[in-house]
Amino acid sequence: MPIDLVSRSDSAGRTDRLSRQHLRRRGGLSRRDAVVAVMAGGLVGEIGAQAPMPLFDAHIHYSHDAWEVVPPKQAAAILRQAGLRGALVSSSDDEGTQKLLAEAPDLIVPELRPYRTRSDLSGWVRDEGIVRYLEQRLSRHRYVGIGEFHLYGDDAELPVPRRMVALARERSLLLHAHSDADAVARLFRQWPEARVLWAHSGFERPEKVRELLRQQPRLWCDLAFRSDHASNGRIDAAWREAFDEFPGRFMVGTDTFTPERWHYIAPHASWSRGWIETLPRAQAEAMAWRNAEAMLGRKTA
Ligand SMILES: [Zn+2]
Repeated sequence: MPIDLVSRSDSAGRTDRLSRQHLRRRGGLSRRDAVVAVMAGGLVGEIGAQAPMPLFDAHIHYSHDAWEVVPPKQAAAILRQAGLRGALVSSSDDEGTQKLLAEAPDLIVPELRPYRTRSDLSGWVRDEGIVRYLEQRLSRHRYVGIGEFHLYGDDAELPVPRRMVALARERSLLLHAHSDADAVARLFRQWPEARVLWAHSGFERPEKVRELLRQQPRLWCDLAFRSDHASNGRIDAAWREAFDEFPGRFMVGTDTFTPERWHYIAPHASWSRGWIETLPRAQAEAMAWRNAEAMLGRKTA
């Protein structure tokens, strides 16, 4: 957990307590109503203050060990309380995504991860069984994309990843790649019309991310599990240049790669709002949810 996220959630907790007291002092509201009001709106200050900016979280996993700890009903409640209007979800294995989708079909946008268990993460590129798994799931359920998968360098040329790209291509699915810049370029060489979501922006510096975005007009970037782009509600200068140059290509994500990370979804959402809301309104909305929904071809209100 990045340090500034932790301190941010602490201060958010204090703000919630303060605003609950404030609501009660203003009269008319019972303690319970005040708590409900704060939980429902996450509002700070006055009753009727603006609702928090909706967010689309583009990087959620709900793998087998997560749904044992956080059952689907509770998981859906966590996403709603975080003020999310959508979440791109993939899981090892896919059963977790299906459980969550059944619980919150209005919220969950399913993508298919090529992993049957967490341990497939390292060996999947050479495992023929992955192709059969993908084919079987794709014939049974609907998805917007394949990913998040881990793929580096010339591993992208191996038969299994190539077959995965072909399966995505047959169905016009998004590719969600946890990759280096080399593998991203190779994916586009295999399928020039692909839409690729670059997980964690490749953990690259913003200068390098901009370079790749200039080369690839159908590349988007999530900012999951990184915190170098903002601290204390301020956007880092080099990242700000990237956001200004490509206002339509970035989006936020939490990355719940372990079950405990599910409890960071709401703190992460409020941390994200903290810096997103320093941007001009249109740019902020793009970053918060419009870019993700445009990338996914969802109709936005
Ligand atoms: Zn991930």
